[in-house]
Amino acid sequence: MNYDLNHCNNLDFIAKELQEREKNNNLRQLNSIHPQDAVTIIKNGKTLINFSSNDYLGLSKHPDLILASQNYTQQYGVGSTASRLVTGTYDIHRKLEEKLAKICGKESALLLNTGFQANMTILPSLVDQKSLVLCDRLVHNSILQGIFLSNARWKRYQHNDLRHLERLLKKAVLQGYNRILIVTETVFSMEGDCSDVDSLIQLSQQYNTLLYLDDAHALGIMGEKGMGLTAHKSGIDISLGTFGKAFGSFGAFITTSKLIRDYLINCCPGFIYTTALPPSVIGSIDAAIEMIPSLDQERKYLLEQVNYVQNKLKNLGYQVLGSTSPIIPVVIGKEEKAVKLSNFLEENGIFVTAIRPPTVPKNTSRLRLVLSSKHQQEHINYLINLLQNYHEH
Ligand SMILES: *Cc1c(COP(=O)(O)O)cnc(C)c1O
Repeated sequence: MNYDLNHCNNLDFIAKELQEREKNNNLRQLNSIHPQDAVTIIKNGKTLINFSSNDYLGLSKHPDLILASQNYTQQYGVGSTASRLVTGTYDIHRKLEEKLAKICGKESALLLNTGFQANMTILPSLVDQKSLVLCDRLVHNSILQGIFLSNARWKRYQHNDLRHLERLLKKAVLQGYNRILIVTETVFSMEGDCSDVDSLIQLSQQYNTLLYLDDAHALGIMGEKGMGLTAHKSGIDISLGTFGKAFGSFGAFITTSKLIRDYLINCCPGFIYTTALPPSVIGSIDAAIEMIPSLDQERKYLLEQVNYVQNKLKNLGYQVLGSTSPIIPVVIGKEEKAVKLSNFLEENGIFVTAIRPPTVPKNTSRLRLVLSSKHQQEHINYLINLLQNYHEH
C-alpha cells in the first residue's frame, strides 16, 4: 500500500499512522467472507474451517433462531422506530428483559444495543472524577473506553491477581474517593481464562465497592444452564452479557437491581439516546434463550474438546495459555511470525486470525483459536495435524 505523504496537509497524521502500522505488520484491514454454515466460511472462493468466530454453539445459523427472527419481523416490522423511552419499547423488549432477569436469578435486566456500547456508557454513569476504578490489566477495550469517558481515577491490578487488587483497595479506602468500582471480565476475551467471581464479590463487600462484571464470553457456555458465571449470585451490582457470541446474534443486556435499572433508564446516555434493538434481533435472542438451557451436552462436548486441543498443542511444544474456555490462545511472539502461521493455516483450509498489539501486549502476538460445539472431531484433528507439520519445519 502507498499512503501519500507528499501533500503536506492536515491529514498527514493519518497517512503517517497507517504507514507506521504497515511497517510494524500491524495494519488492520477488512477481509470479507461468506458464511456457509456454523463452522465453515468461503473466503476468496475457498472453503475454510472457521476457528475464529465466537459462535460457540453454532446458533448463528440455527433454524429456530432464523424462524423466530422472521416471525418477529413479520409481526413487528424491521425496525423499532425510536429509542426505548419514546416508542421503542414493545412488549417483546419488556418480556425478554423479564425472562432474562428470571433465568439469571436477578431482580431485573436491561437490554442494551451492544456490549461495547454498554461498557462505554454505563461505567461513566456510575463513577466520576472523584471516584476510583480498579480493573484487571487485561480488560476489554470497551471497559477502558468507559473508564476514560468517566474521568475517574483508575488503576489496574495484575491479571487475575486479587492480592494485588486487595492491596490497591486497602490504600484506596483511606483516600477519600466518593466511590470505588471494581470492573473485570469473567472470561477474558484474549486469554480465555476465568476470574474468581466469588472472591471478587467477597472483596467488593469487604471494601464496600461497586462490582461490575463483564460475562460476555461465559454466557451461553458456562454456569448453571449456560447462564454464565454471574447468574444466581448476589453481590454483583451489574453483570453484562452479550448476544453476539454464544447467543449467535447481536445485542447485550445487563442484570442488576431495580434501583440501578431505574437510574440507568434516567441517567445513562447510551441507553437513552439510541434506537431500540430491532424485532428481528429480539426474536433470535428469545429463541436462543429458550434453547440454551437445554444444551448441556453441547457445552460438555465443547469443554472436552478444549482440553483435548490444549493437551495436544502443549505436547507439540506450542505455548498455549491455560484457558478453561473455548478461547485457546496459542502465543507465537513476534507479529510477523503469528501472521505467517495464520497464512499457512489459511492456505491449507483453516481460518484463524492472528491477534497483534495493541489488542494484546507486545511480543505476545497469538493465534486466537476458538472452538465451537459444531466443530467435528475431524475438523479438530485436521487443525492439529497442520500445526504439527508446521512445527516440524
Ligand atoms: C465482545 C466483547 C464485548 C463487546 O460486545 P459487543 O456486543 O460485541 O459489542 C464486550 N466485552 C467483552 C469482554 C467482549 O468480549
